[in-house]
Amino acid sequence: MKSTLVVTALLAATLAGCQENPVSGRKQLVLVSEEQAQASSAQAYTQTLSEAQKKGKLSTDAALNARVKRITDRLIVQAGAMYAPSRSWKWSVAVINEPTLNAWCMPGGKMAIYTGIVDKLKLSDDEIAQIMGHEIAHALLGHGRERMSRAMAMQGGMVLGSIVAGQDLSVLGPVADIALTLPNSRTGESEADRYGIELAARAGFDPRAAVRLWEKMSAASGNGPPQFLSTHPSPDNRIQALNALVPQMMPIYEKSR
Ligand SMILES: [Zn+2]
Repeated sequence: MKSTLVVTALLAATLAGCQENPVSGRKQLVLVSEEQAQASSAQAYTQTLSEAQKKGKLSTDAALNARVKRITDRLIVQAGAMYAPSRSWKWSVAVINEPTLNAWCMPGGKMAIYTGIVDKLKLSDDEIAQIMGHEIAHALLGHGRERMSRAMAMQGGMVLGSIVAGQDLSVLGPVADIALTLPNSRTGESEADRYGIELAARAGFDPRAAVRLWEKMSAASGNGPPQFLSTHPSPDNRIQALNALVPQMMPIYEKSR
């Protein structure tokens, strides 16, 4: 029976796939290796950028590109201190000229920020650093792999369903693409907030900007929630939790400024 084999394989993968994250210490379901996650992300990144290029949506604003790169370069140095393997990542950041309020960092350090979020929220350098710090934290904490693993588990369910129903399997899409559209868990969001604000403080960016950033984000969700919030669900106490972190982050910031 094919379906029994799939169930057995999925169960084995699930049992084998629980790993302690080296940064957070939290046990995660991991069905995808770091290498696989990075390879499929690199592919998805190249595709995203070439599509943006074709539509003329890769920002050619030299000043904005330089500004974003200056900020992310400082965060990348601190990412290497927080999680040593990230020192060998092939980091890259793109500025995409679209009105959406969005930013992301894939496994392996492939990042993008959209002009919509910079312009509409009138972001300061400290606020951009908080957004990108949060995104980089997701990557360092293995949240992309976690999302891909969930996408795989979902696909596994679909494969199983298709086999049972005798359907074609070619409908299944690439895991990296599905993973990008899945929301992070609230636990993941709290972790990314906590490590992101520290990453930014170590890089010399004002921790108080994290609170301002999320206040702006929540004000902007008045006219329909920004795309960013569909993949970054807000833990209810996000702003309070960030506020509570500020006093311990201020000395780190003052020292690294
Ligand atoms: Zn997030």
